[in-house]
Amino acid sequence: MRDALTVIGIDIGGTRVKAALVDEAGKVLASGQTATPASVDRVRSELAAMLNDLQKDRPRVMAVGIGCKGIIDAASTEVLTLPGTLHHLEGQRLAELVSGALPPGCPITADNDARVAMAGERVWGAARNCEDALLLTLGTGVGGAVLSGGRILQGAKGIAGHIGHLTVDSDGADCICGNRGCLETVFSARAIESEAYAAVHRGMASKLVGCGATPSCEQVFACARNGDPVARRIVERATKVLGAAIAGLLFVIDPEVVILSGQIVESLDILLDRLRSEVEWRTKPLLRRTVRLVKSELVDPSGVLGAAALAQTLLARQ
Ligand SMILES: [Zn+2]
Repeated sequence: MRDALTVIGIDIGGTRVKAALVDEAGKVLASGQTATPASVDRVRSELAAMLNDLQKDRPRVMAVGIGCKGIIDAASTEVLTLPGTLHHLEGQRLAELVSGALPPGCPITADNDARVAMAGERVWGAARNCEDALLLTLGTGVGGAVLSGGRILQGAKGIAGHIGHLTVDSDGADCICGNRGCLETVFSARAIESEAYAAVHRGMASKLVGCGATPSCEQVFACARNGDPVARRIVERATKVLGAAIAGLLFVIDPEVVILSGQIVESLDILLDRLRSEVEWRTKPLLRRTVRLVKSELVDPSGVLGAAALAQTLLARQ
């Protein structure tokens, strides 16, 4: 009998580092988490402690997948660019941070959080049995991943899938990436909060005023759901642009399914039908079909499940 394909998934996030031992059906056998350590040495030591715990009296780990924010060189697992609280990981090879706590020769793979989410959807979620799919992570910013012909696109330099920086308005707002008018300057938690702040600051009559000077994205969606016209216009405008961007991508990628994940997705429920019809009217005449647009099927802890799926994908290729 062959060994069970038990793997470990690790999710390195800005506030928490999570890890889980996962079987090949996607069942979590054991898990652990800790606050994100502030130095490389502490990341290494805390991950070692967590990995030792996970492996105690358990089946042998066959592979490890790591998901991390930023730009990751999937081939070497090196963190190329990672601004913010995890900046100290820049230049580090993630595989080297964990290899000491794993069986000798255990294969280790890593990628950015959006591509890891796509791996999770491909193996256990909404892209099961799909060869072509598009995934968007909708949160503070917008990330993405493209599955094409069964492979998650990396691009020439590992940048493929940065859908948040698709230009949707050639003269739009400046973006943190250096471009202007990027999708995430219009549709993202940050962009929606900026619009709400501006509306409150202009003295608009709106329930947003009751949320304080800086309403959160969740509050803006809640006000829209409760019929506040100002909040409703803000989220409808942003959703229309998101729909137009997805429509353009459908012509490029021709996917079987579009998967939406990330913190905004639950709030998006009120506008999901509108988003679907926006995408459909723009694309159906040429595509001659309706592309499914669905929410992520991997519930929390999707980060570790996605990373575990990445490890399973690695095993399947060997
Ligand atoms: Zn940008």
